[in-house]
Amino acid sequence: MDGPSGTGKSTVARRLATALGAAYLDTGAMYRAVTLQVLRGGVDPTDSAAVLRCAESADLRIGTDPAVAEVHLGEVDVAAEIRTPAVTQAVSAVSAVPAVRELLVARQRQLIGEAKARLGGIVVEGRDIGTVVVPDAGLKVYLTASADARAARRTAQDSAAGLQSTVDATLADVARRDHLDSTRAASPLRPAVDAVEVDTTELDVAGVLAHLLAMVRDRGLDHAAAGR
Ligand code: C5P
Repeated sequence: MDGPSGTGKSTVARRLATALGAAYLDTGAMYRAVTLQVLRGGVDPTDSAAVLRCAESADLRIGTDPAVAEVHLGEVDVAAEIRTPAVTQAVSAVSAVPAVRELLVARQRQLIGEAKARLGGIVVEGRDIGTVVVPDAGLKVYLTASADARAARRTAQDSAAGLQSTVDATLADVARRDHLDSTRAASPLRPAVDAVEVDTTELDVAGVLAHLLAMVRDRGLDHAAAGR
């Protein structure tokens, strides 16, 4: 499941995995954790060589249970800290470094293989899952929504997390990140040619989920996850 930020990807992907008894991988959390490591080390996020060294040295562990957001750097649980504005501000520069992507894509493929062997299926969300990470995925979904709807959702998420933001500021941030993510040279954000695009502007979470579950069932993929 790919798409820009604020389309409801995380909520929907997690719930889809839960409904299917499948695993779940949030690849954005991995780029965010490396970014946190970069910031903690006082490294300039635009210094590609130094950023790669941070990525290589980061003891990053991420869970694949849709019920638990588990992200560790070493022994420290960083699931909340990777959502702070400082990380959000710097993550696109870090994720644009090709060697960082290679490193994380290799880990993602390993986690996906393990989860599939264990549970029979996995829902993976990010920006390049259909185009790069799993080009042979059984179903590729590209979520979209109007910029206004995305900014409103991000603002609501921020306030639920105790962060202060306005819709205008969030709109500017969402637009900035989309621009950086879709214009970078390495694995830019774009739908895979065989992805199904789902516009979530007018849909609530239950509506999107019902639509996705129908597609999963149509393709017989629910049996993959259920047949563990
Ligand atoms: O999904 P989330 O908004 O947490 O992702 C944070 C950032 O990580 C994105 O803005 C993008 O720069 C990067 N990312 C990526 N490739 C992925 C997932 C996330 O480049 N597969």
